Amino acid sequence: MAERVSGPEIERLIQLLARLPGLGPRSARRAALHLIRKREELFGPLTEAMHAAREKIVPCSICGNVDTVDPCTICRDERRDPSLLVVVETVADLWALERAAALSARYHVLGGTLSPLDGVGPKDLNLASLVERVAPGGVKEVILAVNATVDGQTTAHYITTLLAEYNVRTTRLAHGVPVGGELDYLDEGTLAAAMHARTEF
Ligand code: ZN
Repeated sequence: MAERVSGPEIERLIQLLARLPGLGPRSARRAALHLIRKREELFGPLTEAMHAAREKIVPCSICGNVDTVDPCTICRDERRDPSLLVVVETVADLWALERAAALSARYHVLGGTLSPLDGVGPKDLNLASLVERVAPGGVKEVILAVNATVDGQTTAHYITTLLAEYNVRTTRLAHGVPVGGELDYLDEGTLAAAMHARTEF
């Protein structure tokens, strides 16, 4: 058994850091040491930023994004084309598409995909609110920017059927998205190309 080398506060910090995605115990230990070394210029400001974010974070009541204001910054942005609605599975996908700066559109975050095997049905996703946004007629195109996985494609088909009675085009991402690929892991160039080459669903 490894001997403890620091007090409980530091051990706790390391344990918590190790729970972050991409950090194992070894990198968590390095990150903790780095924070301790940069106590003034990093540790303090980071603690404050985390505290402030934690206090203020709210889900957007329109699109499901997370932000510190509701409606979120994207939904408030009047320069965005209100006739283009990009449907994504997760907030991570929304952020990935924004990094790619592919389109000046609005978003709708589903909160997952339909997955009969895992017991995820239509009521578990933000689908009713999607129909509510499309029904008034201002949205002309719904871009289904879902992952190229079986569940992602099942969800895309379901949404296409759901929106069939409204006067709206449904399109999907095209080239560059590898089968089984997750949007969040693609580079920005590939994502932008896939967005511009989207096809009718
Ligand atoms: Zn929003």
